Amino acid sequence: MDLLNTLVDKGLRRELPTREEALAVLATSDDELLDVVAAAGKVRRKWFGRRVKLNYLVNLKSGLCPEDCSYCSQRLGSKAEILKYTWLKPEDASKAAAAGIAGGAKRVCLVASGRGPTDRDVDRVSKTIEAIKEGNEGVEVCACLGLLSDGQADRLRAAGADAYNHNLNTSEATYGDITTTHTYADRVETVRQAHAAGMSACSGLIAGMGESDADLVDVVFSLRELDPDSVPVNFLIPFEGTPLGKEWNLTPQRCLRILAMVRFVCPDVEVRLAGGREVHLRTMQPLALQIANSIFLGDYLTSEGQEGKADLAMIADAGFEVEGAGTTTLPEHRADAVAAGCGSHAASGCGSHAGGGCGPCGGGGAAAEEPAEAAVPAATGAGAGEARTDLVAVRRRGAGTDLPPNA
Ligand code: SF4
Repeated sequence: MDLLNTLVDKGLRRELPTREEALAVLATSDDELLDVVAAAGKVRRKWFGRRVKLNYLVNLKSGLCPEDCSYCSQRLGSKAEILKYTWLKPEDASKAAAAGIAGGAKRVCLVASGRGPTDRDVDRVSKTIEAIKEGNEGVEVCACLGLLSDGQADRLRAAGADAYNHNLNTSEATYGDITTTHTYADRVETVRQAHAAGMSACSGLIAGMGESDADLVDVVFSLRELDPDSVPVNFLIPFEGTPLGKEWNLTPQRCLRILAMVRFVCPDVEVRLAGGREVHLRTMQPLALQIANSIFLGDYLTSEGQEGKADLAMIADAGFEVEGAGTTTLPEHRADAVAAGCGSHAASGCGSHAGGGCGPCGGGGAAAEEPAEAAVPAATGAGAGEARTDLVAVRRRGAGTDLPPNA
């Protein structure tokens, strides 16, 4: 297929595809799907080999958010019966993080619900970062606390945060349809602040919220312009009790095409298979590893994921290897830019950055919402218009509970 040959060539050169090429990936047929995956896999292996980076979520503060992100179980007015608790103590957060690290994670993602942190919250998180780093040499810490105010990015960086996550989630044109309490521009601004403070930026999207192909291409092109080092790709977990609780409209094939499109547009970036992996890809998860080079281990913010041991077995069975703590995730040109404390690598280096909710998984609580392993539907795109409580298991273990975490 000419399209795929062109996209592979461009990906190997870090050249931006055209919008038409990106749209054409989303429009490929099921007969072409394995060719699409194989082509994206060539680009993935060029920049990341056969390594899979494991990331571990710790929900520092759960629920009770004043924002109204439609996809999020922690939103204002959410009827989802999730765990609700206020800030974890640094030692408790550190204990949860240690479980993930022992399970193979090299990055810990500290997430808190809310519009954004107060300065006191930044103090708490700074202590938590210190506690985690003290006990776990070499671990990367990413903070995900929502919209940042002036000076907070610098303080987090000074406390040892390696990265900051804030997702764009969807296209600028449709952003107002999913959230009214803050804007797309607010999100972009926070990503810029994180970058400017010298943190590695992590910013991604949520697919499956009723958006068009053009919206998906728009948000991924905006991400390419913002130039984060990692792009979490979330597939909406329709959480009962939220406005999008019945939006079951993704198939495994659609998810693979979306991942491939992201890989072609952001070839040398850590593409992270995030929330919705188990629920929407189901038995096709191993194919997604051919495209994405990073996943979350264990549970999500408010929902339970596949057992950590099953994640490790899947990676090994698919012929991939868990990325060790001593290995640099990013390709050299990006890693050098991060080490220099410079936000941008996209085009040619420092200073050329373009440009942002909470949650390394689709918005502070959002992206991370994911279901449990056993909940696997027989059909794809199952039952749009119906709630699927059988597929989404609310998290009842780990942070904020007395039960051990899944790692
Ligand atoms: S995504 Fe973040 S800001 Fe939005 S409702 Fe959820 S916790 Fe609040």
